[in-house]
Amino acid sequence: MGCTVNKAPVEPLVCPNSPSILTVERVAEAKLPTEWGDFRIAGYRSKISDEEFVVLYEGELRPDVPTLVRIHSQCLTGDVFGSTKCDCGAQLHRTLQMIQKEGRGAVVYQQQEGRGIGILNKIRAYALQDAGADTVEANERLDLPVDARDYRQCAEVLFDLGLCKVKVISNNPGKLRALEEAGLEIVERVSIEVESSESAARYLRTKKEKMGHLLTF
Ligand SMILES: [Zn+2]
Repeated sequence: MGCTVNKAPVEPLVCPNSPSILTVERVAEAKLPTEWGDFRIAGYRSKISDEEFVVLYEGELRPDVPTLVRIHSQCLTGDVFGSTKCDCGAQLHRTLQMIQKEGRGAVVYQQQEGRGIGILNKIRAYALQDAGADTVEANERLDLPVDARDYRQCAEVLFDLGLCKVKVISNNPGKLRALEEAGLEIVERVSIEVESSESAARYLRTKKEKMGHLLTF
């Protein structure tokens, strides 16, 4: 399988900046055939909180090969219900297609709904957006952080899979910085822009203008 296993690290120093002890552990792993091709699915749990992570990956993952990765933050409304308020579902599916095309890559699915505020607060924020607020204003009005996500353990999942050099599929400079600070070597940023509905276009404009996302429209 070509993956290092954290219980008995074969190459503990594959990444010069990776932590020597990981705070996540792989609990289970299986095959997952999907509409976009065949993946492997692995489940991780945090050793320091009750957070859980799921990763879908494909191909042989090696520390010396720059590999496509994405940290996808859970979006129940977009990923599952096909909401057109955001582009999350389309981004996730596009990512899976890109990984299949490349024959190698991994998506860490981070269960931090609504940029970390949880689904109930996200619905509260949507109610304010119905009344005219944008995604940033809505969170501020609810006294919630605009972005409460922490990506360190997502990077640890990638280390555990045996990766070190990554090509990150993301438009979010904060995410890129965090992964680099966690010790991954970012070889390339791969931008991801999907056709968006009118309501998603407003959301993306806010992300670009208020959150510094690297979007070209
Ligand atoms: Zn979304």
